[in-house]
Amino acid sequence: MADMRQDKVPVAEQEPKVRAKNFEEVTLGYSLEKAVREARRCLNCKARPCMNGCPVGVRIPEFIEKVAGGDLEAAYGIIKTTNSLPAVCGRVCPQENQCEGNCVRGKKGEPVAIGRLERFVADYMRDKEPEVKIPAPNGHKVAVVGAGPSGLTAAGDLAKQGYEVTVFEAFHTAGGVLMYGIPEFRLPKTIVQHEIDNLTKMGVNIMTNMVIGKVLSVDELFEMGYEAVFVGSGAGLPRFMGIDGEGLIGVYSANEYLTRINLMKAYKKEYATPIMKSQKVAVVGGGNVAMDAARSALRIGAKKVYVVYRRSMDELPARKEEVHHAMEEGVEFLTLNNPVEIRGDDNGRVRAVVCRKMELGEPDESGRRSPVAVEGSDYELEVDTVIMAIGTSPNPLIRNTTPGLDVNKRGCLIVDDTEATTKEGVYAGGDAVTGAATVILAMGAGKKAAAAIDAYIKNKSGEE
Ligand SMILES: Cc1cc2nc3c(=O)[nH]c(=O)nc-3n(C[C@H](O)[C@H](O)[C@H](O)COP(=O)(O)OP(=O)(O)OC[C@H]3O[C@@H](n4cnc5c(N)ncnc54)[C@H](O)[C@@H]3O)c2cc1C
Repeated sequence: MADMRQDKVPVAEQEPKVRAKNFEEVTLGYSLEKAVREARRCLNCKARPCMNGCPVGVRIPEFIEKVAGGDLEAAYGIIKTTNSLPAVCGRVCPQENQCEGNCVRGKKGEPVAIGRLERFVADYMRDKEPEVKIPAPNGHKVAVVGAGPSGLTAAGDLAKQGYEVTVFEAFHTAGGVLMYGIPEFRLPKTIVQHEIDNLTKMGVNIMTNMVIGKVLSVDELFEMGYEAVFVGSGAGLPRFMGIDGEGLIGVYSANEYLTRINLMKAYKKEYATPIMKSQKVAVVGGGNVAMDAARSALRIGAKKVYVVYRRSMDELPARKEEVHHAMEEGVEFLTLNNPVEIRGDDNGRVRAVVCRKMELGEPDESGRRSPVAVEGSDYELEVDTVIMAIGTSPNPLIRNTTPGLDVNKRGCLIVDDTEATTKEGVYAGGDAVTGAATVILAMGAGKKAAAAIDAYIKNKSGEE
């Protein structure tokens, strides 16, 4: 008989005032006792609607049943058959729109805390995993461009089947956005590194500081004997608004700001990475990236951080949990506000952002009500730093240096149902194809591409 309590078993968190000053993880995770209690809320329904919400098809009720029975090794085994990064997904997946959004318990009360349970199992098993087995080589070579979740997933799946896989990563560290974008207080980097170490133990060769399109081209990878190439180069090119003042000192893209903090450890005294000592910060945008930038700015020492967003709270695209955490920590939300100009002082430094008040009009093609400017409502918001978090697109470097690789009008690589691009032997997935999306979708694409690459190479070499 399931535990019919309506609320999730609460999870411990750092106090807002304390955590807003440090980079340690905010959510502390379940204990074994709490995890078992929460797992007992699962009805183990026959229809399994939660699984329909999971892009990689984790067998959710099965793993939760094992947690309820205290068999964490079995739970972990079930999760790992379809999700190679459970400690990451348990922390950052938008469960409220996916598995938990479909949970029957959510109809009368809170859904089962599937994300927290997945995280608990992965954390519990981290140092108890059996030695990674090195698969027997199958004699074929595949190159992966980009060491983000899509590339790492494709690499892992191919390596398991005996492929010799080399991942070419532009940065000096593997992990993609998991390392350079999502802050330590949401996703500790030791967790990502652990998953990367498992891949290298399996024989995946990760070559960092290798910008494909500059150091080597995709065509050169084929000349080097790679039989297929997976492009998982993400969408790291920041967008700006095109308003006056974006060139002033103190204007950052969220990507640059977060990279300086996460990858280049600007928050640690022993690192020389420069970062503004901001007092008042305006973060423009309303997604997860905006929340991460705002919360990071607080932790770096800003006294006041505003999120400036042109629609209302209801349209904020960020995860509810992140918005809630940001508010608890003291971030102020200026919704229905749109920056129209950034003004500087005599030294070319930001001194204010001019905001225009907005109201909601008719729904646009996205179904959301469009913001409409309120005439004569401009005002100056005094800030010394502006962080633009209004979206990113794929960097054009790879498509510009790879003849035959087609992109759509948003600059995203065009692929078919198997993630095959318009160039033979080249597959792609993740943000490079979808534009900025989610970790789990990127992983799902990497998985699908790995299966297609396997079929392509075997077919070409007459092994099927
Ligand atoms: C700040 C931030 C917060 C986010 N929060 C969440 C969240 O809470 N939940 C969620 O699900 N998603 C979140 N996302 C989105 C998620 O991180 C991405 O959708 C996901 O990382 C995409 O994976 P990917 O493998 O396609 O690309 P990426 O993670 O971007 O990895 C691409 C990799 O390719 C490398 N690369 C690029 N060009 C080249 C080249 N020419 N040669 C070699 N290497 C190259 C890059 O350096 C990078 O390492 C967030 C994104 C950001 C920026």
